[in-house]
Amino acid sequence: MRNQNFIDRDKLYGMLDNNAPTESQLNDILNKARKLKGLNLEDVAKLLCVENEADIQKILDTAEYCKDEIYGRRLVLFAPIYTGNACVNNCVYCGFRRDNKALKRKILTLDEIETETLHLLRMGHKRALLICGESPRNDANYMVEAIRRCYAAKDEKGSTIRRINVELAPMSVEDYAKLKAERIGTYVCFQETYDPVEYAKFHPAGTPKADYLYRLTCMDRAQEGGINDVGIGVLFGLVDYRFEILALMEHARHLEEDYGCGPHTVSFPRIEPAEGTPFSLPENIPHPVSDKDFMKIIAIIRIAMPYTGIIISTRERPEMRDKLVKYGVSQISAASETNPGGYNEETDNTAAKPYEKTGTTGAQFTLGDHRSLDEVISMMIDGGYIPSFCTGCYRKGRVGADFMDLAKPGLIKEFCKPNAMFTFREYLEDYASPATKEKGLRLLKQLTETFSKEDLKKRVEGNLCKIGEGERDLYF
Ligand code: SF4
Repeated sequence: MRNQNFIDRDKLYGMLDNNAPTESQLNDILNKARKLKGLNLEDVAKLLCVENEADIQKILDTAEYCKDEIYGRRLVLFAPIYTGNACVNNCVYCGFRRDNKALKRKILTLDEIETETLHLLRMGHKRALLICGESPRNDANYMVEAIRRCYAAKDEKGSTIRRINVELAPMSVEDYAKLKAERIGTYVCFQETYDPVEYAKFHPAGTPKADYLYRLTCMDRAQEGGINDVGIGVLFGLVDYRFEILALMEHARHLEEDYGCGPHTVSFPRIEPAEGTPFSLPENIPHPVSDKDFMKIIAIIRIAMPYTGIIISTRERPEMRDKLVKYGVSQISAASETNPGGYNEETDNTAAKPYEKTGTTGAQFTLGDHRSLDEVISMMIDGGYIPSFCTGCYRKGRVGADFMDLAKPGLIKEFCKPNAMFTFREYLEDYASPATKEKGLRLLKQLTETFSKEDLKKRVEGNLCKIGEGERDLYF
């Protein structure tokens, strides 16, 4: 394994001292960003030091431009399946932590995983994220079976999950190879914080997660196990967000230099209240990130890593999610439950409710967005966004470095926009409410007119028509 510790803590904090750009430096950086080739660490350090409202707006405007140039109005939707909430770790901010006696523990059986999957399918989801605490009961062998059962589930309309991403604790190379063999999409693992000194305070000694370096190098082992599609992230609120952004840049650079491909996604969770976890209450969060700063950092990552997917979850409130989508977010979860068995009405776990009202839910954190999938999609249509359940690139082998080669010349629009439209049409036919279907079909008609190449427009119209007649799973 090469270059094990690629985070130079002192250097990164040092870059944030009095480093605000002059007006001409800011303009130079933003002009460079508009060329869609990304930014370097020094550029990003300067942007992170911008505090002036007007200058922040310039960063947001640049991010909106980059997002639109590369992704268009497409927004990918997915939902998590929590397979278990038992955990051997004791992370101070997490509802699943070992010492949280308020939490009801559960590891789903394979039958229960199938039931959860069917609930997602009946909403209209096609992409699932399997996620759980770290426990010997949730080891790689269990996950292999969980993945198989999730892929095998089929609802009454014949729909299946087409892409399973997994968010799991760091593993050995051998275990990553087992996951790779099960056709996973992205392997996701957050460093939580890249600051090694602060990391020790939040992840008590004696737990597997206390090993900062083992976690930091998990993506290297994933690569060695054959997984070249990886997602990184931090939990915002633990340390200075500016340090975390520089560290994310360094992690991406490390992956690109050593494995020829940066991360496929970066996730942006902020700490949310969790039952039985006082640390997670707003008044106890050491470095809370304001909405204004959160928008700024998502915009900065959008322009610094223009081809990397940015993910936010239902931790965020609908108003905030709608703004973040404009400035860079390309994937969102929708209609999520964060407790094992949460989708199944028959279980005694209720959906996570706002913290004050929470009983014993078994959830990892409190949700900020409780809208149904149909409500989320309806609002996306109102905003002119194209909901996408597309998994075309993954199934055509356009992943890792191949995906980046495709994305970089801007071809992403040629494949992704039509494919998003096809999956959107499927959703409208099979799962949408009548009102959503009506306005969704109107939007699809308008979108079809936006293709300038006549042959592409014809192929898109042809596939949309076939889906209307009952064909499914069409993609370029
Ligand atoms: S953050 Fe993950 S590892 Fe830590 S207690 Fe929660 S589930 Fe366990």
